[in-house]
Amino acid sequence: MLNIRRVGVFTSGGDAPGMNACVRAVVRAALANDLDVIGIRRGYAGMIDGDYVEMDGRSVSNILQKGGTVLKSARSKRFHTEEGRAEAARQLRDGQIDALIGIGGDGTFRGAAIFNDEYNIPVIGCPGTIDNDLFGTDETIGYDTALNTAIENIDRIRDTADAHDRLFLVEVMGRDSGFIALNCGIGGGAELVLIPETITEMEEIKERLHSLMSAQSRSSIVVVAEGEEQGGAARIEQALRADDAFSEIDLRVCILGHTQRGGSPTARDRVLASRLGAAAIEALIEGHTAVMVGTVNGDVKLTPLRNVWSRKKNINYELLKLTQLLS
Ligand code: ATP
Repeated sequence: MLNIRRVGVFTSGGDAPGMNACVRAVVRAALANDLDVIGIRRGYAGMIDGDYVEMDGRSVSNILQKGGTVLKSARSKRFHTEEGRAEAARQLRDGQIDALIGIGGDGTFRGAAIFNDEYNIPVIGCPGTIDNDLFGTDETIGYDTALNTAIENIDRIRDTADAHDRLFLVEVMGRDSGFIALNCGIGGGAELVLIPETITEMEEIKERLHSLMSAQSRSSIVVVAEGEEQGGAARIEQALRADDAFSEIDLRVCILGHTQRGGSPTARDRVLASRLGAAAIEALIEGHTAVMVGTVNGDVKLTPLRNVWSRKKNINYELLKLTQLLS
């Protein structure tokens, strides 16, 4: 059992819907266990600058349903340096903060693990990223909302694609992983899904699209994960336009981009964020450190932070086959 009285909570890296619900759960669970909570604004940047704010129960009222993060998020170059982390440790000491809960992605956890090694400050991670690419949890906070937003947008694109018999290349987020692309491809009825986990040569893409468009002479939707190896939807568009075989096809690109990050979290994300925020406080009280809280087969599980990025979370290849079967 660690002697912890004051916990600092921060959000870091790309924002994700549900981060606020997680902050709320951390604050309320900490207060229920007689721990003080300090909100650290702007992630590691604010930790270094001493940008701290006292959190009470009311400070997290009415944020559960909001997208973004009330604590703000940032990417900090200084935290990559020993000097930056030394300054963060000094500021935390001055603020009498003796444990940390960080909500973010693998970069956030890499920084947290190094900081924990160097300064022995107990730290627990909560998986907050829309990409769902973290080992040790079935889903990350924000993923379900981003997925639903992407599907909603694909439905809209389908209407206009259908009206004009157009081929749409829809780019969704996912630099290193195809979770959003694969699942919104199935949910949105895409004819083809291109993800970073599989290599699809340009010739194969062309062949597939050509047979789809000529056989059905109707609209098609191709979902492209941004990290897909051809270089994203714009690159594929260039290659198709340069090919005479596609000159008759009405081709359009739509990059969903940051629309996928915003918006009110889904019920699923709110529940996940609330569970994991409370579980993070429980883990701290039980004396755990340098672990991420996640859900595995529906149950809360702790995973050493280092495993979160050193192990790969695999996509479900059955789903990839399903997109082909159903298109
Ligand atoms: P997302 O998956 O949404 O991008 P993330 O947490 O992976 O979220 P990053 O920008 O990769 O986002 O990381 C957040 C911050 O964590 C960085 O800006 C940096 O301050 C810190 N960080 C990342 N990697 C390291 C590292 N190796 N050493 C120290 N700090 C790091």
